[in-house]
Amino acid sequence: MKNSKIWLSSPHMGGNEQKFVKEAFDTNWVAPLGPNVNGLELDLENYLGNESHVGALSSGTAAIHLGLILLGVQFGDEVICQSMTFSASANPIKYLGATPIFVDSEDETWNICPKALEEAIVDRIAKGMKPKAIIAVHLYGVPYQIEAIKAISDKYDIPVLEDSAEALGSSYKGQKCGTFGDIGVLSFNGNKIITTSGGGAIVTKSEVLKDKAVFYATQSRDDAPHYQHSEIGYNYRMSNICAGIGRGQMEVLDAHVQLRRDMNEFYVKLFQDIDVVSVFTVPNDHYFANYWLTAIVIESNVVKGIDREALRLAFEEANIESRPLWKPMHLQPIFEKYPFYGSNVAENLFKKGLCLPSGSNLTDGERERIKEVVINVFK
Ligand SMILES: *Cc1c(COP(=O)(O)O)cnc(C)c1O
Repeated sequence: MKNSKIWLSSPHMGGNEQKFVKEAFDTNWVAPLGPNVNGLELDLENYLGNESHVGALSSGTAAIHLGLILLGVQFGDEVICQSMTFSASANPIKYLGATPIFVDSEDETWNICPKALEEAIVDRIAKGMKPKAIIAVHLYGVPYQIEAIKAISDKYDIPVLEDSAEALGSSYKGQKCGTFGDIGVLSFNGNKIITTSGGGAIVTKSEVLKDKAVFYATQSRDDAPHYQHSEIGYNYRMSNICAGIGRGQMEVLDAHVQLRRDMNEFYVKLFQDIDVVSVFTVPNDHYFANYWLTAIVIESNVVKGIDREALRLAFEEANIESRPLWKPMHLQPIFEKYPFYGSNVAENLFKKGLCLPSGSNLTDGERERIKEVVINVFK
């Protein structure tokens, strides 16, 4: 009989989720509004601190879409986006009829490279198209170079949309990820650090902006007894049922962050004597990562026939999920025609990198199975 599947990252309930969902049923708040929606927003505002204002939405992608609208992105504008990311960071640029400009990563945090970013901005301005926004991502829960990116944003007066979909619970110099950008984005998809089955949130610096996001998310209804609309609306609000799951998950968020960090520690130890493998960790103590996924880079060893694919296939054989890092957007068929600034950092990471099972719910037995595969491949 085959061993049961070990997932990269699967939902991990804390226990009280069903209590909040039951309350929603008992009070008939089965709608995209209600006490759980307000409660989850409050929980997130308290958690993030820094005078955050949070709007709960149907997905992280919806939050990026509305975030770009709030930042004034319109048809024909250019928006800079970190190339190495999930496609959901970039797709909303196209929803708005704007043009993505992709920027390479740097080696330390694997996120948007300040040098390539500035080069891109200078060149686009020289071409007569000043970018409207910068989308920076905290990949795998490791914060991007916060200060360097902020300095460039300030210097050129271009706002940052902070894609913190993978980084709830991460922080930099004690400040929580999600609160650094002009707009922040969170995701509660099924594979993220906490989940509402599907959902997301937008983080703003003022109640006015949050209200504007919620206005767009609920079909842009003007203040009138009938349905009146002066702007295009969207149906992007989170349901009160999903928000109930989120309230339960918020109770265990910090505990689950610790468990993911323990998984990272497990991999650091597992690979410490295997010199062709390096485990992705933060560059210094200012960075605190939730390690949503632990990622490794494997330098291929032709003599021993070991490379990323060899390890991935060995895991697959053992019914263990692992996955190459995000394929950079500038190499994707749908986006390859757009400008790209930088060199081959993201491309090389994609070639050599692998994400490993990192869930907060992995058991000792599952860790043993992972260890066995690694020892067999590298023996
Ligand atoms: C998951 C993810 C998103 C999208 O979030 P959804 O809630 O799935 O729409 C956006 N950006 C990054 C980097 C992500 O990992």
